[in-house]
Amino acid sequence: MTETILILGGTKEAAELAAKMATAKPSARIISSLAGRTREPKPLVGEMRIGGFGGPEGLANWLRSENVDQVIDATHPFATQISSNAKQACMATGTPLQVRTRRPWVERQGDRWQHVGDIGEAVEALPPNGRILLALGSQHIKPFAVRKDVWFLVRMIDAPKTPLSLHNHHLLLERPSPDWRDERAMLVKHGITMIICRNSGGAGAYAKVEAARNLDLPIIMIGRADG
Ligand code: NAP
Repeated sequence: MTETILILGGTKEAAELAAKMATAKPSARIISSLAGRTREPKPLVGEMRIGGFGGPEGLANWLRSENVDQVIDATHPFATQISSNAKQACMATGTPLQVRTRRPWVERQGDRWQHVGDIGEAVEALPPNGRILLALGSQHIKPFAVRKDVWFLVRMIDAPKTPLSLHNHHLLLERPSPDWRDERAMLVKHGITMIICRNSGGAGAYAKVEAARNLDLPIIMIGRADG
């Protein structure tokens, strides 16, 4: 019987893993699952399915109907709901689960991080009158609307479905560059005085942290719930 592997993805690492597994196991069915947040996801090696499963029960049903032999959770470390669903669904169906979570970034010499626990703390930690790069997903922007004293540069891959509720802001529709020199140029161009981001870990989004170090800019770093 054909081996079927489900990769819960949405990250660069998950896409790389799908390509690696397709080469290592040419006769297996490698299915990558995306939530559907990005309108035009990059093509992936193997099969791709898009959209939620309908909670842990929906995922468990899907695992059964597709005869999945193994699940690999390679989702973003802040995507905690789907990871919890995967644990429950795998337990319910007896499907082996491998969790591959990125390690958080560690503060290095020259970094000026202020550690906060969540978005609410980040809103309060903002000094007045700054020019802030908000490097967060669209669903996390709204709480910053109360800070009418601050100007925000909001970077997203896709335009938000509804206009942002922020008072003073500019929307930058582009993917982050993996090269810190590009990120530095972007920060300088917009006169950014501080960055707010989450400690996602991984190489893909690290260039802004390197650029901030180079420019001696502070970062409000939102930590993970699990530390
Ligand atoms: P989340 O809060 O953990 O998940 C919310 C719901 O979205 C889940 O209950 C599930 O719906 C669906 N979902 C999430 N990931 C899915 C996947 N890979 N395949 C199918 N359904 C999925 O997740 P999130 O923070 O919204 O992130 C969504 C996706 O974007 C994740 O796959 C993640 O890897 C990727 N991503 C997230 C971030 C971030 O900052 N959170 C950054 C980059 C990429 P059902 O309950 O209906 O199954």
